[in-house]
Amino acid sequence: MKAVKLQTTTLSGTDGPHLLILGGVHGDEFESMAAIRRLRDRVDPDALQGRLTLIPVVNEAAYRRGQRTSEDGLDLARTCPGNPTGSITERIACAVSQKIEEANYLIDLHSGGIAMHCYPLAGYMLHPDTAVLEAQRRMARVFNLPIVWGTSSHLDGRTLSVARDARIPAIYTEWMGGGQCDPQGVTRYMEGCLNVMAELGMIDRPRPVSRIEYFVEDAREHSGHLQLNYPAPFSGFFEPAVRLKDRVKPGDLLGVVTDPLGDRREEVRSVQSGIVLCLRVYNRILEGESAAAVLEG
Ligand SMILES: [Zn+2]
Repeated sequence: MKAVKLQTTTLSGTDGPHLLILGGVHGDEFESMAAIRRLRDRVDPDALQGRLTLIPVVNEAAYRRGQRTSEDGLDLARTCPGNPTGSITERIACAVSQKIEEANYLIDLHSGGIAMHCYPLAGYMLHPDTAVLEAQRRMARVFNLPIVWGTSSHLDGRTLSVARDARIPAIYTEWMGGGQCDPQGVTRYMEGCLNVMAELGMIDRPRPVSRIEYFVEDAREHSGHLQLNYPAPFSGFFEPAVRLKDRVKPGDLLGVVTDPLGDRREEVRSVQSGIVLCLRVYNRILEGESAAAVLEG
């Protein structure tokens, strides 16, 4: 069994913290990959305090297929800390988990992938250690996306779970998706990473003017588990009835799933009050796949 070697760039400056930035944990999330390459060209090692480790495409096996997951079908963000002698995703999970444990801070950049759009957010786990939690709040705030979202610390299998267990402050981000690589997302991701580096004392950079619109902390058990939300009642064609960031309340129509002739038609209605955080944009949907997610509040 061949161990996985992640394609990694390391920029080393003087003494300081070690920040790890991950992209492409899912193989169809492109802003992260482009942003990390731009960040590498932007950061001057001579002006860097600390060490920056960059992995633009963590899940190369999935990226080569142009899919969220590799051929074993496992979600890398549910497979950490993995298994060195397991399937390809389990071995990638093992390799990336080792990288996380070597770092002092983690940023994991995501997007909605081919199937979904997500309103831009920076998220973190509500860590029981207040020093870790406070560092995560600072990182998420200065990353400066519209939503800052703290969620349950009980979710496992993620890069953030590995960081949680090692008490390494960690955030993840989302930016749109739909199989695009939004240039604005690339810029905002690169700037967000630079803002976090400045917050950690790694570079000099003025604090940004805040663009945060919502700050939500939700400690409920499954908060932050986006894939559980609004599963399709059967495999069919999903037509959304809302747009991203629309405000909804219980009973509001989120969309409709139909069969090929439109004879069978089932509505997906909100059971929450809040804003539409994620919305399916790839209309073909399989039974149980998420049609949308609502950020409560
Ligand atoms: Zn992702």
